[in-house]
Amino acid sequence: MTAHTVVVGGGIAGLAAALRLSAAGHRVTVVEQYDRLGGKISTRPDGVDTGAEQFLMRDPAGGPSGAMRLVESLGLAERLVHPVAGGAGLWVRGALRPMPTGHVMGVPGPQTTLDGVAATADRDTDRGAPVLAPGEDRAVGAVVRERLGDEVVDHLVDPLLGGVYAGSADGLSLAATMPALHRALGEQHTLREAVARTTAASRAHGSGAPVFGTLRGGLSTLIDAAAAELRARGAEIRTGLPVRRLERDGAGWAVYVGAAAPDAPTSARGPRLTCDDVVLAVPARPASRLLQPVAPDAAELVGTLDYASIGLVTLELTGVELPTLSGFLVPADQGLTIKAATFFSTKWAHHARPGGVLLRASVGRHGEQAALQRPDAELVQAALADLGTVLGTTLPAPTAASVTRWGGGLPQYAPGHVDRVAAARDLLSGLPLALAGAAFDGVGIPACVNSAEQAAVRILEGSEQ
Ligand SMILES: Cc1cc2nc3c(=O)[nH]c(=O)nc-3n(C[C@H](O)[C@H](O)[C@H](O)COP(=O)(O)OP(=O)(O)OC[C@H]3O[C@@H](n4cnc5c(N)ncnc54)[C@H](O)[C@@H]3O)c2cc1C
Repeated sequence: MTAHTVVVGGGIAGLAAALRLSAAGHRVTVVEQYDRLGGKISTRPDGVDTGAEQFLMRDPAGGPSGAMRLVESLGLAERLVHPVAGGAGLWVRGALRPMPTGHVMGVPGPQTTLDGVAATADRDTDRGAPVLAPGEDRAVGAVVRERLGDEVVDHLVDPLLGGVYAGSADGLSLAATMPALHRALGEQHTLREAVARTTAASRAHGSGAPVFGTLRGGLSTLIDAAAAELRARGAEIRTGLPVRRLERDGAGWAVYVGAAAPDAPTSARGPRLTCDDVVLAVPARPASRLLQPVAPDAAELVGTLDYASIGLVTLELTGVELPTLSGFLVPADQGLTIKAATFFSTKWAHHARPGGVLLRASVGRHGEQAALQRPDAELVQAALADLGTVLGTTLPAPTAASVTRWGGGLPQYAPGHVDRVAAARDLLSGLPLALAGAAFDGVGIPACVNSAEQAAVRILEGSEQ
C-alpha cells in the first residue's frame, strides 16, 4: 500500500519535503494553518516581496544551493535575476561607509580594513591551542569581543548578523550561524586565521558567479510552482487548517486538525487525518506543542528556541537620489530606529521605478519589542526620518508606504542549538516523524530546503524498514 505522509506547515520547508516525498511515490497531504502558503515567503500582487527577498545561489559545500535546485527542478530558471548594484554600506559615526571586505558575517580576516568603522583590540594571539576546544560552541560575540574588542562586534558583526537574524551577536551560536568558521576555529589558533581559511574555502567553491538570486514576480512564484507541482502529482494541500494535536494510531498517526481546544477530550477532538508518517515543518513553538504528548523530552529541547520579531517598511518615493548601493546596515549604537535598508529599485533591475525609488527599511531587534509596537504611521515616519538622516536630506512624503510585521519571524540560535537539535532527533528516532525547516537547521531558504530534503530522506528510509 502507498505510504501516506502528512506534512505540517506549508512554508518552503514543508513544500520542499512534500515534493521530495511525492517524487518517491508517497501519498502526501500538506496541512497549513493559514489560507496562504509560503510562511515567511510572501509577495505583494505587484511582485514586491514583503518577507524573504533573495536566496544564496551556491551551497557552502559547493554546487547549487537547495533553493537553486528547487528553482531549476520547478522550471523557474528563466525567472532568475541577480542584484545589479554594488555592495552594501554601513552607517557608522555619522557617515555611510563602504562595507569592509574579507570578513565572514562581519568577523574580520587578516586583510580586512576597519578604518572609520571600528577600533580593533590586539588580543587575537596564538595561545598554543585552537580558538575553540573540540565540541565547544560559544556565542559569536563572546569570541570576537575577547579577541578583537567590542567595536568590531558592535559596528560590524552585530549589524551583519542582525540583518539575517535580527538578533545580537552575543546571543547567537557560532556553530549554528557560521558553521564553516566554527569548524575552522576548532583547528586554527587565531580568529583571523580561521576567517582566512573560511574565506579561502568559500572562494575555492565560488566561480565569480552571482552570490544571490531572486525570481521576477517575487519569491512566492517558487511557492506557487511548488504547490502546482504537488497538486499535479496528486498531493493534497489543505490550507486554513491548523494541526492541533498528534497522537499515535497503531504504527502511524492520528493528526487532529481544526479549531477545537487542544486539551479537549478525545471524543471532542474533531476532524482527524490518519497517516503513516509526519513531517513537522513549523516553527519551534508549534513543533514543541505538537510533540509534547508523544515525545515530551524532545518537545522540551525543541521548545527552548527563542525568536525575534521584525517590521519591514516598504516605501516608494519620487525625486530622491539614492547612492549606488544595494542598501545599508545600521549598528544598534548609532542612534537610529531602523537597523537596515534595502534599495530595491537600485539593487534589482526589475524593481526600477522611472522617476522614483522603491526601498525597504527594517525595524526591530531581538528583545526590542517596543519599537515594533508603534502604529504603522509612526513606523513609516521613523523610517523616513532615519533614511533622511543617512541620505543627508529631508525626504518627501512617500507616494506609497506599507508596513509588514513578522512577529516571532526569526529564530535565535543560542549556543548549543546544533547539539540540542541533534539530541531532539535522537529522542525521536523511534517515531515515524521528521523535523524540518528554520527552527532546526538554518534560517536561509537554501538551508530550509536542505533540511526538508533530509527530513524526507529520513521518512523514506524509515518506510523501507
Ligand atoms: C522578514 C524576513 C526576511 C527574510 N529574508 C530572507 C532572505 O532574503 N533570504 C533567505 O534565504 N531567508 C530569508 N528569511 C528567512 C526565511 O524566509 C525563513 O527562514 C524560511 O522561509 C522559513 O521556512 P520554513 O518553512 O522553515 O518556516 P515558515 O516559513 O515559518 O513556515 C512554517 C509554516 O507552518 C505553518 N504552521 C505553524 N503552525 C502550524 C500548525 N499548527 N498547523 C499547520 N500549519 C502550521 C505556518 O503558518 C507557516 O506557514 C527571512 C525571514 C523573514 C521573517
